[in-house]
Amino acid sequence: MNSDDLRKYGHEFIDWMADYLGNIEQYPVVSQVNHGDILKQLPDSPPDKSESMDSIMNDFKNIIIPGMTHWQNPSFHAYFPANNSVPSILAEMLTATLGAQCMIWQTSPAAAELEERVMSWMRDMLGLPSDFTGVIQDTASTSTLVSLLTAREKYTDWGINQSGFDDKKFRVYCSTEAHSSIEKAVKIAGIGKNNLIKIPVDKNFAIIPEELKNAILSDIHNGFIPLCIVAAFGTTGSTAVDPIEQLGLISKKYNIWLHIDAAFAGNALILPEYRNLAKGIEYADSFVMNPHKWLFTNFDCSAYFVKDKGALIRTFEIMPEYLKTQHDNVANNYRDWGIQLGRRFRALKLWFVIRSFGVNGLQSKLREHIKLAEYAENMLVESGKFEILAPRLFNVICFRFVPSIDLSNEALNQINTELLIFLNTTGSVYLTHTKLNGNFTIRLVIAQTNVEQKHVDKVLNLIFEYVNKFYS
Ligand SMILES: *Cc1c(COP(=O)(O)O)cnc(C)c1O
Repeated sequence: MNSDDLRKYGHEFIDWMADYLGNIEQYPVVSQVNHGDILKQLPDSPPDKSESMDSIMNDFKNIIIPGMTHWQNPSFHAYFPANNSVPSILAEMLTATLGAQCMIWQTSPAAAELEERVMSWMRDMLGLPSDFTGVIQDTASTSTLVSLLTAREKYTDWGINQSGFDDKKFRVYCSTEAHSSIEKAVKIAGIGKNNLIKIPVDKNFAIIPEELKNAILSDIHNGFIPLCIVAAFGTTGSTAVDPIEQLGLISKKYNIWLHIDAAFAGNALILPEYRNLAKGIEYADSFVMNPHKWLFTNFDCSAYFVKDKGALIRTFEIMPEYLKTQHDNVANNYRDWGIQLGRRFRALKLWFVIRSFGVNGLQSKLREHIKLAEYAENMLVESGKFEILAPRLFNVICFRFVPSIDLSNEALNQINTELLIFLNTTGSVYLTHTKLNGNFTIRLVIAQTNVEQKHVDKVLNLIFEYVNKFYS
């Protein structure tokens, strides 16, 4: 295929893309296929001969699309969203067209310099301290791993990079509500899962600083080295926020690296009215938030910020002869700012999004979502039939249906499991659950790019429909 084919099919595909997004509400949010349905329609062997784009596209429509869960449907209220937006899609097409591999400055100076600029925009938009430097990673999981490896190397004066592990017994701390990516990072970094100490949380699901301090003191007493505290700014279960300032003071006192995992809720820091929740952020050594969750930039795009940029680079830098250039002392060679050598041009889509929405546009979208969540929460509370299981700080409502206060937790877990199944089998909404204090908790996330009042009313009506049926 050549550039004429690109023009022909490109126009056709754009039409399909615009129709898809325009009619997205006609697709079931969650794919209705059974396991294996897609696989059995795919031939065992790849084609020997060229197939036409028409036939490939037909299979995309007929085989692939029915097996997709439609994350861009505004009735997607599950997990956290992975939003896109028109400017992000357009930029991603350009990125694919350029096909540049942006490992060092010289392999695309504009990619390196745009990333530098967009990350300093993001830092300022989020109200992060001016001594933070940003770099785009693929995911928050990678960012947290990068943070932990940097902490490990800085502590050992780059000794583990050099000679491997000796008998150092590191400890890493997070709350019992922290994300599973922290455990994964601890495993990969060679620290060992047993050395991830999960600290209890209070009634709001935020870490208890006193408990953290006790754990640290007891570890020091027993010959362990407290290496890193991972604070949650918005847990995945309930968007709880750990007391950053108190954790910051503890980290300073005991000389422990402080990383803040703000993957989802960190986006809310573009709203000045939310910055008080991040008080003490200047104590942090690193911070991660995902524009691919709630800033309308399609997956993947994770913004990682670090205070000691030199320590980051020293942890990851490589200098084989074939990668040396005359710009190495002045330019950002992002291959040294993380794990991978080859890098996608991710800054482009974020630049398009920020410019197309404008900071005010992004802020009003987030405020709209939060306002809709407040409305939904009020509707649930006012009906008197639901219990809110965690304070709503942002746009995630954690609730369960309580038909009668006499019911055991076990019975309530069963009833709410059935409510969730009912909602999701309608195909017109998608919600997921978590467990808070052992209680089955339905999470209603109001964060999809195009979610509006009518979508919130739709999910509420379905919930009330089930609840009313329950009594009849
Ligand atoms: C989603 C999430 C992550 C993981 O994000 P990825 O970018 O998918 O790795 C980590 N921490 C928290 C709090 C999250 O909500």
